Amino acid sequence: MIRVQRPATAPAVLSKGHAETARWVTDVRAHPAAHRAGAKKVTFDETIYRDPSVKQVLVQAQHEKCAFCESNFARVSYGDVEHFRPKGGIRQRRRGALRRPGYYWLAYVWENLLVSCELCNRRFKRNWFPLEHRSTRVRGPKGDLSRERPLLVNPAVDDPAASITFHEHRAVAVAGAPRGRSSIRGYGLNRRTLLTARRRVIDAIEVLLDAIEELPGDHPTVIKAEDFLRRMTAASEEYSAMVRAYLNQRRSSVLPPP
Ligand SMILES: [Zn+2]
Repeated sequence: MIRVQRPATAPAVLSKGHAETARWVTDVRAHPAAHRAGAKKVTFDETIYRDPSVKQVLVQAQHEKCAFCESNFARVSYGDVEHFRPKGGIRQRRRGALRRPGYYWLAYVWENLLVSCELCNRRFKRNWFPLEHRSTRVRGPKGDLSRERPLLVNPAVDDPAASITFHEHRAVAVAGAPRGRSSIRGYGLNRRTLLTARRRVIDAIEVLLDAIEELPGDHPTVIKAEDFLRRMTAASEEYSAMVRAYLNQRRSSVLPPP
């Protein structure tokens, strides 16, 4: 996972959701018990937050990669517009009870949107949104979200490298970073298919590093290999966080010193 730089200006279409949000805020306040019990449910207009003017901007800002696992999904699927704070319901514990309503007033809020692959969103994260202290959970639009300390890394806000690093191809939590462990589990960052894909990248890096070590520094192959490795660390490349971590651990001179 790497930092996501979302453009500051929200796409205009999201303002279409304001009236709907205001209506639901009133409804939830008037019928809190019915909403908690699921007898009444907030509904969402997905045509707003899935509008191409929202999705395409996010896809581009994220270099066509999933915000969480850094796989390039655009080759094979459309990807999901994902709500970092779940809009429909929340689980504090992974298999705990689903509490309704979720952060429904953030359904059309730009700062809450990312694009993810279908597996990270639908199979792993879903409604799980653990907080360090559940008592700080915000229940309505007047609450102070800055008091919540989510146990999942938000790549648009946090520096993922402060919580998640890699041991070869395996994602591991940075020592003392509870968010790291939760995020690796919550986003499924060590699922088999990702481990296989990242292992292939590590194997390729090894071949390049061997060539660099064995040949004279001005050999054309060394220059090409260093250039290739540098490109693999770019934000546009798959699994760039792992590549950076690995090259740092190998003290490769390809990366500038931190
Ligand atoms: Zn993903």
